[in-house]
Amino acid sequence: MGGSRDYDVLVIGSGAAGLAAAVTATRAGARVALATKGSLQACNSAKAQGGIQAALGDDDSPELHAADIFKSSHDTADLRLVEALVGDGRSAIHWLEELGCGFNRENGGYRLARCGGASRKRLLQVGDRSGHAITKALRDAFESSPALALQEHALVGLEPLAGGWRATLGQDGSLVTVEAATVVLAAGGRCFAEAQQLGVFSTNHPNATGEVTRIALEAGAEARDLDSLQYHPNGGSWPQTMQGYAIPETTRAYGAVLLNASREEFTDSLGPRDVVSAAIFRECEEGRGVQTPDGRPAVYLDTTRISREDADLSLPYLLRRFRGAGIDPLVEPLLTYPVLHYQNGGLVIDEHAETTLEGLYAAGEIAGGTHGRNRMMGNSLLECCVFGRRAGRAAAEKAKA
Ligand SMILES: Cc1cc2nc3c(=O)[nH]c(=O)nc-3n(C[C@H](O)[C@H](O)[C@H](O)COP(=O)(O)OP(=O)(O)OC[C@H]3O[C@@H](n4cnc5c(N)ncnc54)[C@H](O)[C@@H]3O)c2cc1C
Repeated sequence: MGGSRDYDVLVIGSGAAGLAAAVTATRAGARVALATKGSLQACNSAKAQGGIQAALGDDDSPELHAADIFKSSHDTADLRLVEALVGDGRSAIHWLEELGCGFNRENGGYRLARCGGASRKRLLQVGDRSGHAITKALRDAFESSPALALQEHALVGLEPLAGGWRATLGQDGSLVTVEAATVVLAAGGRCFAEAQQLGVFSTNHPNATGEVTRIALEAGAEARDLDSLQYHPNGGSWPQTMQGYAIPETTRAYGAVLLNASREEFTDSLGPRDVVSAAIFRECEEGRGVQTPDGRPAVYLDTTRISREDADLSLPYLLRRFRGAGIDPLVEPLLTYPVLHYQNGGLVIDEHAETTLEGLYAAGEIAGGTHGRNRMMGNSLLECCVFGRRAGRAAAEKAKA
């Protein structure tokens, strides 16, 4: 690998995974270019609210974290990837802190919340704009590095060369090619495009369209669980301006519960996502849900049970958004229904984030296996940091070899 290529490492995508890979590869001494379809800020990662999981509590361990992932995935997760994810959790959080991301703290430690499917409090937060804070820290590190940013450059083709890759990028109707010894694909999932086809709401950024997965498959990479898409249990249902908004799962971590039309709790509000979403679908299909003023199915999320202190510390953005839309979540329950949220499956990778093709890496939502067929909340941002760093490191090393 290496030689006369334009770059050592080409990263595709500027979400948390792509930025983590680019920063790490640059720090490992590689010449890095990052191409992204829109602006550097345009991605799902910046929209993430709830937080990032890592086993940092006194009663917690990477082994317990791994066990929760397996249980939530119904034993479909890839052992090697889960071990890498939970094993790197602590160092990923410390790395983000070094880059300037300040997680909420209390009583001398982190303010940890318990999220759906978790046996321990494990979710670190920056208010309820955790993704914004994490991507800002990563973007600042990227922008102060010598790496080249190619904004508004979409990957449209990828072909192997002897000892490297040639990427074709579309920009403003014209095509440019970039050659690199190694490539890291970090272009996220496809739930925006999928939701449009299905005619349902999605939490995703419009750039989440999935063509990079198709390009990698055409180049010969393997994928797994591509049919497995995740519904976030709590999409906003009313008012219309909040439809498709992902009500953070931390509402339930801080005491909100799901209620049907008779105001009865019909499921464990802190169950795994697929179980909670299925329970809401069932409640509505069997006539025990409520209707939004525009005739859509919904159930109540009783956010009035959240204490004012918890809401002010951990849900300020939610309060602002709903109050701005005329509803105070601490005074009346919200109307909610599942929305398309996440692509569980993706490109097959090993523990160094290498796909089944040599020199081609994948990190973040575009990769499959870490969550099996059902992701727990908070593990995606961790996956982006852990496998983004692993991909950046391995891609830089292979390029130099
Ligand atoms: C509303 C919301 C809330 C969430 N909350 C949480 C949470 O609290 N905790 C958690 O862990 N996870 C959460 N998630 C999930 C998590 O944020 C994402 O799965 C994760 O951030 C994906 O990161 P990524 O870097 O893989 O992809 P993204 O952040 O989606 O970035 C993909 C990048 O690739 C670019 N791109 C796409 N196609 C191309 C192309 N053809 N060429 C070049 N570039 C391309 C995009 O423009 C973008 O820059 C949430 C997701 C959403 C949408």
